[in-house]
Amino acid sequence: MSQRVVILLGPPGAGKGTQATRLGAALGLAHVSTGDLFRENLSKGTALGQKARGYMDAGQLVPDQLVLDMLFDRVSKSDCSKGYLLDGFPRTIPQAEALEKSLKAGGAQVCVLNLRVPDALLLERITGRRTCKSCGNAHHLKYSAPKVEGRCDKCGGELVQRSDDSAEVFGKRLQVYREQTQPLEAFYEARGLVRSVDGARNPDQVFQDLQSFAKEAA
Ligand code: AMP
Repeated sequence: MSQRVVILLGPPGAGKGTQATRLGAALGLAHVSTGDLFRENLSKGTALGQKARGYMDAGQLVPDQLVLDMLFDRVSKSDCSKGYLLDGFPRTIPQAEALEKSLKAGGAQVCVLNLRVPDALLLERITGRRTCKSCGNAHHLKYSAPKVEGRCDKCGGELVQRSDDSAEVFGKRLQVYREQTQPLEAFYEARGLVRSVDGARNPDQVFQDLQSFAKEAA
């Protein structure tokens, strides 16, 4: 059986992380988030984390080669052998080309799910987001408030605002998304791989659509 690769596209705050955790479990695919991998490297103080920090804090993209080395190392692990779900990758055309080249050799089956959300809602989602320092689980002050203030419902860890989730850095991240990542829609549309989903609805409805599109594409 060929390897399955599901790519989640969408601007910051579209709900990629929330949906990817659920969708990965439902489809039996490893959830690979390049943002999470960079944050893990940052918290462990690795050389890669040090290199990525400045770009992340400024809302800029980490240079392609650093991302690609990290990503290909991650997807070579045994939990990705049947397939994986990509969250936050690719974010540039060169990243998409590198992925395509590596997947062609193995004849992987690729499906791209694009989450569409209006800008005003993105800002509200990002600035209200609080992330668990221990397990990475995300809450929202208004839409998914924790049961105990400041504490993660899943593990009880401390909830903090990611340094790049301020309104200022969000503006930069959205600009970078429009300039460097949105062109990927056309890249994948030209290959007939994209299904777009209205990501402004409640998470359960969004999940149902993502799941049925991913299953249809299989
Ligand atoms: P995320 O958690 O996906 O919002 O990613 C957080 C930050 O990590 C981004 O704003 C970038 O600085 C960096 N990053 C994550 N994935 C990539 C990628 N595929 N290419 C370049 N930078 C990335």
